[in-house]
Amino acid sequence: MIFDEFAIKSLITPINDFPKAGVVFRDITPVFQSPKAFRMVVDSFVQRYIDSDFTHIGAIEARGFVLASAVAYALNKPLILFRKQGKLPAKVLTEAYDTEYEQSVLEVEAGCLNAEHKVLLMDDIIASGGTFLAAARLIRQMGANIYEVAAIVDLPELNGSRLLQDARIPTFTLTAFA
Ligand code: AMP
Repeated sequence: MIFDEFAIKSLITPINDFPKAGVVFRDITPVFQSPKAFRMVVDSFVQRYIDSDFTHIGAIEARGFVLASAVAYALNKPLILFRKQGKLPAKVLTEAYDTEYEQSVLEVEAGCLNAEHKVLLMDDIIASGGTFLAAARLIRQMGANIYEVAAIVDLPELNGSRLLQDARIPTFTLTAFA
């Protein structure tokens, strides 16, 4: 399978001033609406990670759930959900963070990972990096390790991938909008 970067990028339409003035929102949902594109994206991650030794896949709510669940299914890995505040019924760990356009709080079930675990974290887009960094803090609070963070798109101008590198977190994206 060859990843057709041009085809995927052309599906991801920019929407100006959403959800706030000044933000160029990169809408990934047309990729999910195209079976061919979605399969290409999922298969690219599966190909990259088929022989990797991480133990779990972490999924960031909400678009990250769509991507990570397909990859976790294909690779037969346990899936850990990183949710917005107030959604998980279990005892949770909590981290506040800033994204490109909002302040938010991420939660994960307390004790669902330990020092023997290595997590591949997945979301749709890296913008400011705030979301991935918050999820990484939650993973590290449990003593677990981060294998890599992975997304379909990097927005390098928003500096998130740089911040992740500075935090010594390996980062992988299929494409970028510079
Ligand atoms: P950040 O924490 O700033 O890296 O933002 C990452 C999260 O916010 C991802 O879950 C994205 O879905 C969403 N996001 C942030 N900025 C954008 C953008 N410009 N276009 C689309 N989604 C975005």
